[in-house]
Amino acid sequence: MTQTRHFDDVKRIVVKIGTSSLLHPNGKLNLAAIDQLSYTLSSLNNTDKEVILVSSGAIGVGMGQFGLTHRPTAIPEQQALASVGQSQLMTVYQQRFATYGTKISQVLLTYDVFEYTGSLKNTLNTFQTLLNWKVIPIVNENDTVAIDELGHTTKFGDNDQLSALVAAIVDADLLIILSDIDGFFDKNPQKYPDASLIQTVNHIDDAVYQIAGGSGSDFGTGGMYTKLKAAQRMMKHGKKAVLANGSDPKIILDILAGKQVGTLFDPN
Ligand code: ADP
Repeated sequence: MTQTRHFDDVKRIVVKIGTSSLLHPNGKLNLAAIDQLSYTLSSLNNTDKEVILVSSGAIGVGMGQFGLTHRPTAIPEQQALASVGQSQLMTVYQQRFATYGTKISQVLLTYDVFEYTGSLKNTLNTFQTLLNWKVIPIVNENDTVAIDELGHTTKFGDNDQLSALVAAIVDADLLIILSDIDGFFDKNPQKYPDASLIQTVNHIDDAVYQIAGGSGSDFGTGGMYTKLKAAQRMMKHGKKAVLANGSDPKIILDILAGKQVGTLFDPN
């Protein structure tokens, strides 16, 4: 692997992990992935890096608890599953991060937070205090009261967007989105085996959005489109994003070491 990327000046990092990286296809927790994620983020947190994790997975974990293989369509059931799953997921994170002596916190956000200056300021101050205390905030949308992500009617509310919004308010240097795919391809690789990985994207326009299809898994909600939107939001702020495969979250260390993995979204 060549080392042509430079992230030496990156201090504050937002990592978003998708449901498909946290759960096996049978709906059970991918403990190896969660453990590697906890190890990797703890390792970074022990240096001068500051880390925020945006974690999906609440509904998927809730589905696993009830042995469901298909996501219910009724909003109250989805929200109840999110409530069950979020607490289970945080319990697992708590245990795994504790192994590495890392303190974590839960931050549940709704989109109105980003619309009101007062709540935005308080949220930023809380993030700042947590980071000062070397706590890793674990962020999710407050699924029990929000319907954006659950409703599927709008693609605005999803954790890809949430991660970019969080990155913007804390002025993060880098957003890393971990998914079930090696990066952004010139066409959907799940459908086209001859698709090839795009290593660097400097500009996102309609033609780029055209090659991002819909959501790819039964458990996830975002798809490639929302990942591009998140990357575009970072680039608009002059910041970088990397989309990479979360099957082994230690890939975050490769990314920061400048290795050519995943797709780099770089406005420069
Ligand atoms: P996550 O649950 O990690 O957020 P998603 O399933 O929502 O992941 O989105 C990733 C999926 O997007 C891929 O598995 C793939 O099926 C789909 N996809 C559509 N177009 C592309 C593309 N051009 N490059 C890569 N993946 C694509």
